[in-house]
Amino acid sequence: MTRKIFTSILSVTLIVLVASFAIILACMYGYFVNEQKAALNNQFGVVAKAVDQEGWSYLDDVDTGDYRYTLIDGKGKVLEDTFADPAKLENHADREEVREAMETGEGKSTRFSKTLTEKTDYIAKKLSDGTIIRVAATHLTIVSYILVMLQPMCVVLVIAVIGAALMARRAAVKIVKNINEISFDDTDDEGIFRELGPMIEHSEKHTGERMRKEFTANVSHELKTPLQSIMGSAELLEAGAVKAEDVPEFAGRIRRESTNLLNLVNDIISLSKLDEKEPLPRETFNVAAVADEVEASLREIAAGRQVSLKVEKTGMEYLEIESVYQLVREIMYNLCDNGIKYNKAGGSVTLGLAGEPEYVTITVSDTGIGIEQEHIDRIFERFYRVDKSHSKATGGTGLGLSIVKNAASFLKGEIDITSTPGIGTVITVKLPRK
Ligand code: ADP
Repeated sequence: MTRKIFTSILSVTLIVLVASFAIILACMYGYFVNEQKAALNNQFGVVAKAVDQEGWSYLDDVDTGDYRYTLIDGKGKVLEDTFADPAKLENHADREEVREAMETGEGKSTRFSKTLTEKTDYIAKKLSDGTIIRVAATHLTIVSYILVMLQPMCVVLVIAVIGAALMARRAAVKIVKNINEISFDDTDDEGIFRELGPMIEHSEKHTGERMRKEFTANVSHELKTPLQSIMGSAELLEAGAVKAEDVPEFAGRIRRESTNLLNLVNDIISLSKLDEKEPLPRETFNVAAVADEVEASLREIAAGRQVSLKVEKTGMEYLEIESVYQLVREIMYNLCDNGIKYNKAGGSVTLGLAGEPEYVTITVSDTGIGIEQEHIDRIFERFYRVDKSHSKATGGTGLGLSIVKNAASFLKGEIDITSTPGIGTVITVKLPRK
């Protein structure tokens, strides 16, 4: 793309440049030729009249410049010439302008030199005594002008091409950079990329379709595994193949897998609601109350894993917000749930709330296993897990963080994450209060 833009800009510049040269040259040449013709006509008119009245001697004390005058008799014999000895000149009766002047009183013609770099204009006129006076003026042709201008033109062209190339490169790089930086979230932005709206829409549709297909394939796979396990255990129980003392274990397995399935289905429902982008009911509530509720529902799970969970609040007067209760709760719940699941015995999870006039910041920090840098960009993707077996063993669905991300974006909030393997993870979600 950069290359294409670059070559287009460069070729347009070149075409414009060469075309301008050609037009300027043609205009200037046309102008000169007209001027030359007018000057020749003027002088010839005066000289012809004077010679007619005073004879050839009139030319003796007149400076005729580059014009060559010739006097020819009615048969074409050269009588006088200002440039050469008339005796050495051949008969001029066959010259076009002379013939014309003999017949009609006046004749004109133009002849080119062999190299085409020079041309000579002739005007001939019959005088009252029957002789013919002729003037010849030699000029450079457009070919010589082009040859003369070729060198300076080449210099200008080279400079212009270098300049254009530099500018074209900069422009091309900038255009491509801007396109790459387009935010697909504000396509209705009245910015410079309004023209790209249809392309973005098309691309969004394409990406959307691909993501839906991927999601469906992933969901089917995620549902199949626990269902197969449940079916296997149920079949063994049904066939009486399980010893009485092992029955609780099998029943427990069925319950655990069902719980996982239920979690998965609930997460999928949450995500598809967010995907529909339909307006959700907004209400005014205090995030401190939500945090306390989340802490209460996770307290036992945390204790079971020997992880302490606490809530810290600052900026109390700004903790009341107008938002979607369910989404704020899911953000806090999923982040704390992860903090507990990916922790170590004796570790801790802190759910911090900080109220500010415009924003409420939710910070969940844990002293857990942390996340390697290479995974950080991907953990917000649907079904992405750093350690699949650990996630599954702790009832993870791989959807928690994508729900957090979608919910935060739905509420026009921002997410930030920092993590150090072996030390812990801090995730903040900054939500607007209105
Ligand atoms: P899951 O249901 O597997 O927890 P999530 O979307 O919530 O799915 O998280 C995606 C992955 O990110 C997890 O599988 C885990 O590997 C990693 N992860 C999430 N939160 C933390 C955390 N606090 N500490 C370490 N790893 C985390």
